[in-house]
Amino acid sequence: MHTISGRQAADPVGLTEVDDAGERRAAHRAIALSAVGLAATGLAELLIALLTGSVGLLGDAFHNLSDVSTSLVVFLGFRVSRRTASERYPYGLERAEDLAGLGVAAVIWASALFAGVESVRKLLGHGTTTHLGVGIAAAAIGVLGNQLVARYKLRVGRRIQSATLIGDAKHSWLDALSSAGALAGLVAVAAGARWGDPLAGLAVTLLICHIGWEVTTDLARHLLDGVDPAVITSAEAAATTVPGVSHIHARARWTGRTLRVEIEGWVDPDLPVRAADAIGRHVIAAVAHALPEARAISWSARSAG
Ligand SMILES: [Zn+2]
Repeated sequence: MHTISGRQAADPVGLTEVDDAGERRAAHRAIALSAVGLAATGLAELLIALLTGSVGLLGDAFHNLSDVSTSLVVFLGFRVSRRTASERYPYGLERAEDLAGLGVAAVIWASALFAGVESVRKLLGHGTTTHLGVGIAAAAIGVLGNQLVARYKLRVGRRIQSATLIGDAKHSWLDALSSAGALAGLVAVAAGARWGDPLAGLAVTLLICHIGWEVTTDLARHLLDGVDPAVITSAEAAATTVPGVSHIHARARWTGRTLRVEIEGWVDPDLPVRAADAIGRHVIAAVAHALPEARAISWSARSAG
């Protein structure tokens, strides 16, 4: 069995399209700075939500903190997954990220449940909103903070042409919209509509559920060894171009950020082992060329007929 490995580890934020090391650093700095800003915004909102009793602010704070914790897990996972393999953990600790992801998913769903229950309770007439001025200021900070983060990510993303960062900027823009919802709820309360805040709380809860769903389905796909079917078809197509291979069967899965591809190839049963090995090396080279994201490719020869 041949394998190739030792390529550079995948990037923590999926910036595979960014080649230059300096640009990569700029992207990481943009994401880290945004996370710090967002964490500060979320914590400030949380404190003021407790002071004012605003469920809209509470939900928005949970939303911002959920976003921060998912990016934190990606970074921690990247660090841990760079640990080298040992005899006890022969594939390294790459799945540490998925393990941490389970914790994050649980916290996101719990916060959605909490924000939802509080919003319904308030809508049914329990609890009031106080310190409206402070609450409105906090929601405005949420809008402003997310807008700043969105613009910053968009600027860096356009400069280094990173689709990941530009996509992230769009998410931050939606986050600003969520804070604007909390703001609208509080303004409605100030105008005499008591239901404004719990209604905003319910809307923001739906957004938290959306994040929870995205995080959970992504995690489930990883844990169930799911892979894009195109990976299998292009691996098989590339391997069959190699002369001497009569039939190919490919499987692939992700362990953490490593895409592992296993190729079984049927060859002439009368071939010497050395010749079958040579075919294997060609197959691995062809598959590596077709799937640049593959970081480990193994080959097993089977005798045809
Ligand atoms: Zn968000």
